[in-house]
Amino acid sequence: MIEIEPITGLKSDDGRCALIAGPCSAESEQQVIQCARMLSGMGIGTLRAGIWKPRTRPGGYEGPGRPGLEWLRKARQLTGMRIMTEVANAAHVEAALEAGIDMVWIGARTTVSPFAVQEIADSLAGTGIPVFVKNPINADIDLWTGAFERLSRAGIRRLAAIHRGFSSYGETVYRYAPQWEIPIELRRRIPQLPIFCDPSHMAGRTGLIQPLAQTAMNLNADGLFVEVHPDPSCALSDRNQQLTPDEFGQLVRSLSQRRETSEYDRESLKPLRDELDSVDKELIGLLARRFGIAREIGSYKQLHNLAVLQPDRYNAVMENIIREAVQMGIDGKCISNIFENIHSESIRWQLETINRK
Ligand code: PEP
Ligand code: MN
Repeated sequence: MIEIEPITGLKSDDGRCALIAGPCSAESEQQVIQCARMLSGMGIGTLRAGIWKPRTRPGGYEGPGRPGLEWLRKARQLTGMRIMTEVANAAHVEAALEAGIDMVWIGARTTVSPFAVQEIADSLAGTGIPVFVKNPINADIDLWTGAFERLSRAGIRRLAAIHRGFSSYGETVYRYAPQWEIPIELRRRIPQLPIFCDPSHMAGRTGLIQPLAQTAMNLNADGLFVEVHPDPSCALSDRNQQLTPDEFGQLVRSLSQRRETSEYDRESLKPLRDELDSVDKELIGLLARRFGIAREIGSYKQLHNLAVLQPDRYNAVMENIIREAVQMGIDGKCISNIFENIHSESIRWQLETINRK
């Protein structure tokens, strides 16, 4: 059981979703302060900036290290903003705590390592500092959950997640694919945990940020975590995905926020939800029947010494199903995903039937 305490002061008074913004990397005192002044002028309360930058390949800008913490402190002093940076090991935690950083985040390349997460959890124990945990770079919900469990066992209660997308092999539209079903599953597992969306790392380029941020709003994200740089064309890291403060302002104004669900909404939705529940029940009944038939087929194949997997038949079934579904207005990819799962379960049933005999 993971106990969550709210992180106060993140949401603005007008009820807008929480916004955290700032440069990918702290690059100079002047850049950090300029960025903080512009963001604070727009009413943004929390400044993010990387002090230690995990680079996938060596040779890139690795951040200013310790001296950069002073720039953040100065930005806080001048603007009243809260300051936040990434920590990846105990030494970073120690330096960040010593500098009085308000909140920290664990990066995507760190969440993948249980050793690193444990080291951070141990060094944060007893501090009460809010900790944001980015999703691991690979689409592994258990690693993400495990990081919260480790922090929770170290007594850290003020926790939040940052959904920043997942890596995939080869060229894709997004730098890191959103895979929205993963933060949705995280919400199911840890319902009280605030989930922020980082559309900057998902997008990889500024043009894709707005629709991602809007999707996050539609899915009830608790906040946005966005890279903003006073002059992105000169940024020392993640140049293509950083917004100017002006562009960030436009983004925020463009987002339509969803309001809280009221008792009235719940009442209005009840008949439809009841109908949905009864359709789900029917679906389960149908699936049970389908698996029963698959088992009978398994018995036949066993008796007559046939292979379980019959690729021609499988391809024909899939083609027919997709055609039929598309005619009924269902997305072909969605239906093929569902039927791949159903089919592999049928195969498992058949193998079980055969092995038992
Ligand atoms: C960052 O936020 O600048 C960062 C390094 O992010 P991630 O860990 O998501 O790559
Ligand atoms: Mn970045």
